[in-house]
Amino acid sequence: MTIEVAPAAALPILSHWIDGAPVEVLPEQTGPVYNPATGQVIARVPRGGAPEVERAVAAAKAAFPAWRDMPLIARSEVFFAWREQLFRHREELAALITRDHGKTYPDASVEVMRGLETVEFAAGLPVHLAGMMTPNVATNIDAFTLRGPLGVTAAITPFNFPVMVPMWIVPIALMCGNTVLLKPSSHTPGATQLQAELWTEAGGPAGTFNVVYGGREAVTAIVEHPDIKAIQFVGSTAVGRYVFEEGTKRGKRVGAYTSAKNAMVVLPDADMELTADAAVASGYGSAGERCMAQTLVIAVGDTADKLRPLMEDRIARLKVGPGMEKGVDMGPIYTREHRESVIRWIEVGEAEGAELVVDGRPFVHPTNPDGFFLGVTLFDNVTPEMKIYQEEIFGPVLGIVHAATYDEAIDLINSHRYANGTAIFTTDGGAARRFKLEVDVPMIGVNVPIPVPAGYLSFGGAKESAFGDLAMRGEDGVRFFTQQKMVTERWPEPGRRPGLSLVFPGNS
Ligand code: NAD
Repeated sequence: MTIEVAPAAALPILSHWIDGAPVEVLPEQTGPVYNPATGQVIARVPRGGAPEVERAVAAAKAAFPAWRDMPLIARSEVFFAWREQLFRHREELAALITRDHGKTYPDASVEVMRGLETVEFAAGLPVHLAGMMTPNVATNIDAFTLRGPLGVTAAITPFNFPVMVPMWIVPIALMCGNTVLLKPSSHTPGATQLQAELWTEAGGPAGTFNVVYGGREAVTAIVEHPDIKAIQFVGSTAVGRYVFEEGTKRGKRVGAYTSAKNAMVVLPDADMELTADAAVASGYGSAGERCMAQTLVIAVGDTADKLRPLMEDRIARLKVGPGMEKGVDMGPIYTREHRESVIRWIEVGEAEGAELVVDGRPFVHPTNPDGFFLGVTLFDNVTPEMKIYQEEIFGPVLGIVHAATYDEAIDLINSHRYANGTAIFTTDGGAARRFKLEVDVPMIGVNVPIPVPAGYLSFGGAKESAFGDLAMRGEDGVRFFTQQKMVTERWPEPGRRPGLSLVFPGNS
């Protein structure tokens, strides 16, 4: 296996990808990209704004009519070719994710494959784009529905899944016949650029899939652009709410999938070994930087007495280090600033009176002292009044919460302002069944800690974890990226005209 990632000394400059070609920028129009495992700058990423968004939208608008009218099978063929290109480059994509984000290479490899699931789903979309026909709604009149694209659409994506989250949005938007502008996170840009290049190599027409790098200015330009018809955003609640409110105010269709604070309930009858594995894997995998991580463990009754020592055992064996190193369980935090933010949250937890069982702060990686590493932290006796219970930390910090009863655990979950994912650990099928019915959270695991639905199903939270009426991907993704048209069509029989009548059309 050869993984070629540009050496730090070369400092490659990434380019926007507009109209099927790179748009080069001057070094002074770029910002640094860090390798969080070393703390070194390894690339430069363009700081795009309104002019680049304007250029990309113009390209997407020009490409739209021909892409919309391309026969569905021909569109599908581009997707099959793109899927093959992405698969062929899967190791390079995974290595770029690890380089920019810090997550372990095995974790990044699964991210790529889970992103590909949605590309595969999109390749088979023609069946989902079919309309419904009702003949004879009136004499010589048939009615039918058809699904058409919206036009130019946009995706704004976060740092934590640089391949998978763009792949959850872009393929469905494209296969529905839209053209796309992707604005990825500037913290993890390398793999995203390769995705767009491979689209062009696979035969994706110029202008159909464009990438503009940038931050707030680029996002504002997208939200305000009159030619962008729909936006799917994935990221924090603060930015997602802004994109949703400002976008919908301008008549755009917007779906924003945002922050989370997920809790898993552990009943006393659970398989404690399995549950301890699940809690530690979910809480600390990818350094806690997953929106579906369970960062609160709600232990019912005396469960914590059994579970906590098992979790501590596992924590003691975790290996923290560079994501490309074999045997490493957890990589660094993605930026220096975010590492500091997580440390501040641990201080808040201590000040609020949570019991600090394992403290990740003193960890220093022996050979990479400048990397953004942090050990894992475990709090016990976290209570709902605490900020570390209420707020998303997005780092390797797990909290154990005690609930006297199952009902109390359900109340805790249902009264939280976030609702992305949740899980129950139990051997009691009846309790699991009740949980699925009673819990007010859309994505549920039963003895599964990270219940991210398969790539061809829909994904999305509720409350402050999502804005808009539809989820991403799956059936909802198709509905989001299409407009349903209802056609009523008359083909009079030869010589039979209905004649003039001012009466409202009836159905006879
Ligand atoms: P973020 O909100 O900081 O960034 C998301 C996108 O918005 C990026 O493209 C970024 O460049 C842009 N952006 C950042 N600040 C902005 C501003 N002030 N104005 C306009 N645009 C801005 O999120 P992040 O830190 O990249 O990602 C982590 C967050 O994403 C967490 O809250 C996590 O829970 C959430 N997330 C949610 C899901 C989900 O499906 N619900 C999935 C992954 C991540």
